[in-house]
Amino acid sequence: MLTFDTSIQFLKGVGEKRAEQLHKLDIYTVQDLLHHFPRQYEDWSKIVPIAEAPHDTPSCIRATALSKPLERNIRKGLSLYTFSVTDSSGVLKITLFNNKYAAAKIEAGKQYLFFGTVSGSYHAPELSSPLIEPAENGDRIRPIYPLTGGITSRYLEKLVGTALSQLDKALDNDPIPAYLRKNYCLCTYRYALENIHFPTDKQAMEVARRRLAFEELLLLQLGLLRLKGRTQATTGTQIKSDYHLDFCKHLPFALTGAQDRAVRECIADMQRKVPMNRLLQGDVGSGKTAVAACVAHSAIRNGYQCVLMAPTEILAQQHFESLSRLFAHEPTIRIGLLTGSLTKKQKDTVLQSAADGSCQLLVGTHALLSETVQFANLGLVITDEQHRFGVRQRSSLADKGNFPHMLVMSATPIPRTLALMVYGDLDVSILDELPPGRTPVQTFAVGTDKRARAYGYVRKFLQEGQQAYVVCPLVEEGETDLVAAEVYAKQLAEGPLAGYSLGLLHGKMKPKDKERIMADFSANRLSVLVSTTVVEVGMDVPNAVLMVIENAERFGLAQLHQLRGRVGRGKLASTCILISDAQNQEAVRRLKVMCETTDGFRIADEDLKLRGPGDFFGKRQHGLPELKVADLFTDMPLLKEAQTAARAVYAADNALALPEHKPLKTAVKTLFERTGEQGLN
Ligand code: ADP
Ligand code: MG
Repeated sequence: MLTFDTSIQFLKGVGEKRAEQLHKLDIYTVQDLLHHFPRQYEDWSKIVPIAEAPHDTPSCIRATALSKPLERNIRKGLSLYTFSVTDSSGVLKITLFNNKYAAAKIEAGKQYLFFGTVSGSYHAPELSSPLIEPAENGDRIRPIYPLTGGITSRYLEKLVGTALSQLDKALDNDPIPAYLRKNYCLCTYRYALENIHFPTDKQAMEVARRRLAFEELLLLQLGLLRLKGRTQATTGTQIKSDYHLDFCKHLPFALTGAQDRAVRECIADMQRKVPMNRLLQGDVGSGKTAVAACVAHSAIRNGYQCVLMAPTEILAQQHFESLSRLFAHEPTIRIGLLTGSLTKKQKDTVLQSAADGSCQLLVGTHALLSETVQFANLGLVITDEQHRFGVRQRSSLADKGNFPHMLVMSATPIPRTLALMVYGDLDVSILDELPPGRTPVQTFAVGTDKRARAYGYVRKFLQEGQQAYVVCPLVEEGETDLVAAEVYAKQLAEGPLAGYSLGLLHGKMKPKDKERIMADFSANRLSVLVSTTVVEVGMDVPNAVLMVIENAERFGLAQLHQLRGRVGRGKLASTCILISDAQNQEAVRRLKVMCETTDGFRIADEDLKLRGPGDFFGKRQHGLPELKVADLFTDMPLLKEAQTAARAVYAADNALALPEHKPLKTAVKTLFERTGEQGLN
């Protein structure tokens, strides 16, 4: 008997090879197949007479073949098949290219459906490479699926049809309990699956879509509520005293109002009986490190250890240095650094000091996740993630302590309305104020014809002893990143920037060499840092006031914003020059937004509009399940409804233990397991 869990290989029409291809589409089970939703539809249900077929959009024509197709060999490897068809309104000439298979099936006098966009003149309409079906197959809306090599939409359509017909009773196993369907006017699971794949009409498809989108949002909300509940259920490492003011006295600057507020929110959290679970959202340069330092300080003075994880070595190194400076007046607090590039001996020393508690603040990369890393008394976990860690990695670090407090720092501003959704398991503090004395970075977009002038401008600043970043141009086909960067750096050194000291930073470099270059740039021994995008994360050199970005069109808004965030970090006015010859409307729009604003939230909003939420919330970025149906932009009202529903369900039955919630529980688990998230039992 077929069930949702049946491996796709056991479905009729799927062999071993097919199964492999389906795996590429993330289809492993029958349910995966049914949740592989069409990306659009062909409307074969509205038959258009030949004489009225539009010339700009696809339509479906029902017509009779006047003859068998005529084959013509245009040249070697190219055969044309032409034939004419007719309905009561006119005659249409049809051409097939190299499609012997389809041509062979056409018989004179038989009726077919042709789907495609008509061209030619109104007197002599033509249709090239249409989709063809025997007339008796048609009259419906047909799904078009996202595909991968070797798999056609028609094949998937057939499989889905088989699965739906064989599942039968299993389709009544609805994840959304009847009372919720009633309250929120949702159709059944069965109706939804049948009509998302094979809608009887547009309205049925909408009803199906709404239900599936609601379901997705409901499951996501429930999953997040449960993640949050998991940590709230247990007493953590509660701190007794607040040393915030004490620490502030010794900082080299006064905290901004926003920083102060964030620190207080964190400390208040840590004084409660449940672990803190907080997101610190702050634009680049808003001073998240100082907040982390204050919070860590209070945890440490209360007798706990603290760990800070960064996504790259460069960033970990910088955090280590900044924190060492901020803690300079606290000689009894020992700070350690753990990265993949330590020697065995260095590593052992660090591990030992973490395990015996003598190192109170350990900074590092993913290397921290290793089982060999243990703490005597871990009380606070901070991740500086720039969206690179998933929920699971965060919690695996937390498992090294007894429900420690968690602080997640993110520099990618998320439109406020959506932050709650994406970080539903976290409380949020926002740094919406930059440290004083900053002048917003001026940004210009110029074409490559102005490159020489741009570098003239750069030289003016270098002469004054200031520094510049240059982000390398796009890698040409067949060229490696490394070669591109090296070639470009050489061109600069021999050309417009001759006489200035240039450093090169790229992804393939040994960590030691990277460190050296970074240290040299930080200390102003290098005037210019030429780099691939590795510079995106974390560099903090206030004396660097220029950022030149070649091929700016290839970057997304969020990335451009991050890159630009490397400058404008000190008192000096900074400039960002975007070099691009892009004509593409969307790219031009992105560059324009960059020139208009430095407000991360506004950029995030624009980004969302340009890219669409599907991309914006790619699963890789957040470690959250990907949304397949729901569109966070247009489905915002639905999201609110789903949120209300999730809260009500959770309040009534947080373990989803009631019989009517059993399918719901399974569905939440399945959704989160897909992304490898754990802890939802
Ligand atoms: P980000 O939020 O991007 O991680 P950082 O923590 O790197 O920002 O801080 C950016 C720069 O601002 C650093 O050079 C830091 O020393 C400085 N800074 C942070 N807070 C303040 C403040 N309250 N006043 C002045 N400078 C500050
Ligand atoms: Mg930072």
